[in-house]
Amino acid sequence: MTSKAQIIDGKQLAEEFLGELRDQVSHLTKLGVTPSLAVVQVGQNPASQIYVRMKTRKAEELGITSETVLLPADTSSSDLLQVVERLNQDESVHGILVQLPLPEQIEERSIIEALDPDKDVDGFHPRNRGRLMAGEDTFVPCTPLGVQKMLIRSGFDPAGKHVVIVGRSLIVGKPLAILLTQKGRGANATVTLCHTGTRNLDVFTRQADILIAAAGKPKMIAGNMLNPDAVVIDVGVNRIPDPTSEKGYRLVGDVDFESAKTRVKAISPVPGGVGPMTIAMLMHNTVKAAKNQMRQ
Ligand code: NAP
Repeated sequence: MTSKAQIIDGKQLAEEFLGELRDQVSHLTKLGVTPSLAVVQVGQNPASQIYVRMKTRKAEELGITSETVLLPADTSSSDLLQVVERLNQDESVHGILVQLPLPEQIEERSIIEALDPDKDVDGFHPRNRGRLMAGEDTFVPCTPLGVQKMLIRSGFDPAGKHVVIVGRSLIVGKPLAILLTQKGRGANATVTLCHTGTRNLDVFTRQADILIAAAGKPKMIAGNMLNPDAVVIDVGVNRIPDPTSEKGYRLVGDVDFESAKTRVKAISPVPGGVGPMTIAMLMHNTVKAAKNQMRQ
């Protein structure tokens, strides 16, 4: 069978979104407030290094000031808390992102709770998580927000649809379920949240009008587990060995793209799907933080 699915091009959608954001950054700069983002990285985890570089590069492209605070891998919780406190107090910094995961000697939760919630552009602070739950204005975590915008901008409004999410992490699955069940525009979906305790996963995936995979398991969802009219957003980013690639590996999603694309209505690829949208939403949240602080 030949390819039939529409490809949801996250790279292109992100560029369109960033184009609009660039105008807002230059407007704010003219008013004397250049949005600024501080990224804190502890240790030299290779994946974190790549993500941090991508984020700061994108910020600079948009005219957002960015600062990377690189700390040694053996940094203690109290030293990291001091850095967070300095950035909280620094009025020239609008957004703070602490790149996760942190080394194991650091208690992640206490660091996130120490962030000024008004600068928490990742949306992980308990105040912001609570506001999302309550349907109030807040910093929505970047990946769930990116998925929502992808759906809306590619013409697949989740309103009234049955959305099945595979994965219930605090950074993707759960906030996305909350976001898409809000009463409001771009939401109003009926959401089923699946996880490792879900029996007969395929019974649920086949019912999805919109399937969102965020399990971190390479190609775990095959085409025959999907409804032919489904729209699929693949959040998963997994490395699998590939001797033909220079790096010795390649990236694949949680959905088996080859079998799914011949079956479903639309699908986002990996790479080039949710990843670029996540970074675009970080920029969005940074600009939002700058605007909020300017008003204060
Ligand atoms: P995580 O914290 O490991 O959570 C994975 C979730 O998937 C858990 O809730 C787990 O269930 C569930 N799960 C795992 N295997 C399953 C299975 N066989 N059947 C049903 N549910 C299963 O991962 P995460 O941080 O949410 O990330 C998920 C994936 O998205 C990863 O590949 C990650 O790299 C990717 N990601 C991409 C972006 C991006 O910007 N593109 C951003 C964030 C994450 P339990 O709760 O029962 O264990």
